[in-house]
Amino acid sequence: MWEARAFTPERMSYQLISCGVVAFYMIERGQSSNTEQAGMSPAEAFAILGDRTRLSIIRVLWMADRFHTYEDIDNSASTMSFSELRTRVDVSDNGRFNYHLSKLVPQFVRKMDGGYRLSGAGKRLARTVATVAGEHDVEIAGEVETECPVCGGAVTATYEDQWLRVACTECAGVFGDAAPEGTLLNAPFPAPGLVGRTPDEALATELYRCMLDLTSMMQGVCPGCASAVTGSLSVCDGHDAASDRMCRDCGTPFVAWGELRCDTCRFVKRLPVELCVMGLAPVIGILYAQGINALAPSLNDLFEFTRTRMTTAVTEDPFGVLVHIGAEDRMTLTLDEHLTVVDTAQ
Ligand SMILES: [Zn+2]
Ligand SMILES: [Zn+2]
Ligand SMILES: [Zn+2]
Repeated sequence: MWEARAFTPERMSYQLISCGVVAFYMIERGQSSNTEQAGMSPAEAFAILGDRTRLSIIRVLWMADRFHTYEDIDNSASTMSFSELRTRVDVSDNGRFNYHLSKLVPQFVRKMDGGYRLSGAGKRLARTVATVAGEHDVEIAGEVETECPVCGGAVTATYEDQWLRVACTECAGVFGDAAPEGTLLNAPFPAPGLVGRTPDEALATELYRCMLDLTSMMQGVCPGCASAVTGSLSVCDGHDAASDRMCRDCGTPFVAWGELRCDTCRFVKRLPVELCVMGLAPVIGILYAQGINALAPSLNDLFEFTRTRMTTAVTEDPFGVLVHIGAEDRMTLTLDEHLTVVDTAQ
């Protein structure tokens, strides 16, 4: 059995002051034509938010929005007057409260004619707190029904540090030294997403999220913050994997790996190139024609397709990879060292 610790968003907002996981999620640069919202650096944002009163202001405005008028479609929201906000945050000193409130305006809190409300960045910050907090205790048995796609052994799910790890109990998994022994899938998973889900449903949900993130990143867009994503290719020089055994050098069945990185919020994915190309529209189409939904695949679908219906060849000059999809609709994709598709041949 495993359990996700439950935090209320209220408790969590205070804990985030010291553990500092928030600011990279919350910067929304240039989100409106209003030039006063020019954005700030992560260091500046951390500095502004490193105060209990300011986080309380964001919490109170978010809670008020939840229970009154909060409309994210057109970014409208009800406002709260200075005096009501001060009373709810429970600060008696007018000057001190005004000082802290002014630090949040305009990046996190907007001052309107009728009072104050959260800005887009303020809502994003509050949502992040809700996402990392969770609202319920979650207990899920560790074993999943899916068999290990490598060896057919029993597979377990564990949850730690808000990461969902699915691992085989009988073989080394597919990530070599890059992840703990047996790992088949290892990705961040918000605790609220575990509520009401079995381990198999959590696994299916995680695969869905991974593929959506991947499709966005292969388009060059970070799913976390919308910044540009940088791709890079790495290969195992002495790769010697066979169908029934992992490579001795890299410990994986995959010769080439793609890394997709956002330098703004530091969201990173590192996956076999066969999996990377499964986030591209032409490959999604081929898979769909063969009965596989690449956007919501099973673990076995992913493994079976990448291992038996795709072959990858590394090219030296220029450095890149050819990924051949051998199926009814044959296709060869050429990717350069930045994981950009430079040629598609059918
Ligand atoms: Zn296994
Ligand atoms: Zn290798
Ligand atoms: Zn990002």
